[in-house]
Amino acid sequence: LFEEEFHIPVKVTNDANAAAMGEMKYGAAVGVRDFLMVTLGTGVGSGFVSNGELIHGHDGFAGELGHVIAVRNGRSCGCGRNGCLETYCSATGIVRTATEMLQNYEGESLLKNFDNISAKDIAYSAQKNDTLAVKIFDDTARILGQTLADAVAITSPQLIVLFGGLAQAGDVLFTPLKKYVEDNLLNLYQNKINIIPSKLPESDAAVLGSAALVL
Ligand SMILES: [Zn+2]
Repeated sequence: LFEEEFHIPVKVTNDANAAAMGEMKYGAAVGVRDFLMVTLGTGVGSGFVSNGELIHGHDGFAGELGHVIAVRNGRSCGCGRNGCLETYCSATGIVRTATEMLQNYEGESLLKNFDNISAKDIAYSAQKNDTLAVKIFDDTARILGQTLADAVAITSPQLIVLFGGLAQAGDVLFTPLKKYVEDNLLNLYQNKINIIPSKLPESDAAVLGSAALVL
């Protein structure tokens, strides 16, 4: 449709695939042939790069890690199924976890001071060593780590790059995440995979990636 309208070649890709291209051309994955890009935003997206090429699948829809079922019979997902990774590990998912846990939490917590809790508030509180917020990040990292360990068994990446709001939480996410990934990896893959935050500015990765795709 766009090609007809604008008379230029147009390539269509999802945000995570575009971000993966951006990371490969300009970011944390320059020179890396096998990596996994995971975006932790409102939802969870992913792009798998194998042998320097994005995996598209036969229909262009490859790499939907956000809708891999991370918890059987778990939370209901917008896709109509239950327990998808993004219902736990997106910015929206971690807020859902915080809201659930706060309901039965008797102890003191910085999280009780926020009206409409955001993922940023949870990260801030965890960075201040708030017991409940640290626990929320630990639970989120466990579910993400288990699923990433499973994903590693499929494409054996050298690197996993995390992008998006939650990926900026720093050590409160990455320290437990690295532990849970290693705990769940098949021994063949242990101590070989680097997990790092994106080096691209939040607003730029998708744009850079889209540009890289066209170039
Ligand atoms: Zn889903």
